[in-house]
Amino acid sequence: MLHELTGGEVRLFGLLFPHLAGLDVDRVEDLGGMVRIVARTRAVPVACRGCGVPSMRVHDRYQRRLQDLSCGGRPVRVELVVRRLRCGNQACAVATFAEQVPGLTGRYQRCTAGLRGLLERVALALAGRAGSRLARALGAAVSRCTLIRLVRALPDPQTGQVTVLGVDDFAKQKGHSYATVLMDMDGHRVIDVLPGREAATFARWLAEHPGVQVICRDRGGAYAEGARTGAPDAVQVADRFHLWQNLAEAVEKTVIAHHAALCAAEPDPPAGQVRARPVSPAAAGPATPPGPDGFRDVCGRERRLVARHREQHAAVQALLAEGLPASEISRRLGLDRTTTRKFARATSIEELLVKATNRASILDPFKPYINQRWNDGITSATVLHTELQAQGWKGSPQAVRRYVRQFRPADGRTRAARTQRPAPAPAAPPPPKPRRVVRWLMTHPDHLDETAAAHLAQILARSPALAATAAHVRTFATMMTERQGQRLGQWITDVRADPLPALHSFANGLCKDHDAVLAGLTLPYSSGAVEGKICKIKYLKRLMFGRANLDLLRKMALLN
Ligand SMILES: [Zn+2]
Repeated sequence: MLHELTGGEVRLFGLLFPHLAGLDVDRVEDLGGMVRIVARTRAVPVACRGCGVPSMRVHDRYQRRLQDLSCGGRPVRVELVVRRLRCGNQACAVATFAEQVPGLTGRYQRCTAGLRGLLERVALALAGRAGSRLARALGAAVSRCTLIRLVRALPDPQTGQVTVLGVDDFAKQKGHSYATVLMDMDGHRVIDVLPGREAATFARWLAEHPGVQVICRDRGGAYAEGARTGAPDAVQVADRFHLWQNLAEAVEKTVIAHHAALCAAEPDPPAGQVRARPVSPAAAGPATPPGPDGFRDVCGRERRLVARHREQHAAVQALLAEGLPASEISRRLGLDRTTTRKFARATSIEELLVKATNRASILDPFKPYINQRWNDGITSATVLHTELQAQGWKGSPQAVRRYVRQFRPADGRTRAARTQRPAPAPAAPPPPKPRRVVRWLMTHPDHLDETAAAHLAQILARSPALAATAAHVRTFATMMTERQGQRLGQWITDVRADPLPALHSFANGLCKDHDAVLAGLTLPYSSGAVEGKICKIKYLKRLMFGRANLDLLRKMALLN
């Protein structure tokens, strides 16, 4: 019994369980693994849940078992005797009602308000499975379903008045289903997640939430149309993030079209890396093969991937010329639909091949070293792999074996004969991938390291088209970062004066969406923050193993 406790112990109880201060506590028991507190409510009037009239007329009493926040690492159970009261108000529809203790109990709740609040936070941070594991460690064993139910039961936060709205879409399942994120750009918080990314849905939301003055959106047509219908007076701002992204796509197309300019570059290797020795004439044999351009291997043979792409592209184009539909072509050639579409759309085999060989390899930094060792006579992939490991290589022996395979003669000689007469490997590293060149072009020159800057300068000196592209990118970047929208017209004129088709179509796109682009390059608003929130939503989606329904994902996004 509590009255048997000393003064100090009563004070300690008050410190540990402040939420039980309004109760008469009968017993505190140690049940080994857990603590049991037996208590009852005091005889005070309680307002009826129907009419609000206070009542003291007891109908009966019963015991509730409430799980509480753990104490000293042990679960706590409160066994609370509560009253069922009779409503004295003749006009009230409620005959009897159970009393609730403010800040402690709720209708039908089997845990205290404190524990419920904690579990809600755990569920919002970690969702079902991980949340359930953490809750068990915190002394409150609940299932993942309970946690998800807690999140679903939470009320939406108040939207409030939104004047600057950011809108963007994200893939729930790439290529299949999408959703729209709406964000209050002043408060930097997600205010809604809508199913799909159609203009009508967005327009309806805008009509239900009047007062939006500025809408930051991507370059897609659907949100522009939705904004025109739902909030015709709002200023539309084309987001700078998407403008820059679209420019980068145009630059990538330009680089791919001029990829020949990348091949002759021979930069100095980055500092600290082993520099390959030049191939001696004896080792190189009578004729030095051309350096790999991504299409050919170091011995000048066409790569297998390239040969396969060439054959498939020709086959798809031939069937296309016969007038067959894409589905029939993919069936006949046994190709995936996406692949067939890719081959059908490519204007030239070069475009397709540059894209296919565009990927950087983790072996790239080690290639000069492998080449050098090969020229030294070390032709065993296993030995090379072991040597590379000492230099920090974390990849597999297979990757090394695949790379050196191209140095070996392709004829049917025996393994021993092959290793005796290795084919020469060039000492120079391969040319940079187009994607890397795009990154150099899109980076501010002050932020490029010396090697990259020197390399880029060589490429630009060889290709006037890429040099012109670099100049246009720099002007656009200045215009964007310094909000010089008034220069847009001149920029478009300058771009059209150069023979750069990909940039022309980018410029045409800017003209079609002129007012919003001008606003994006002039006004301070931008929806870059929406991209950050989308990253967060994608994280939440993965947290739930990608299986969350949109309503749950929406709740998590709104409340996190
Ligand atoms: Zn009542």
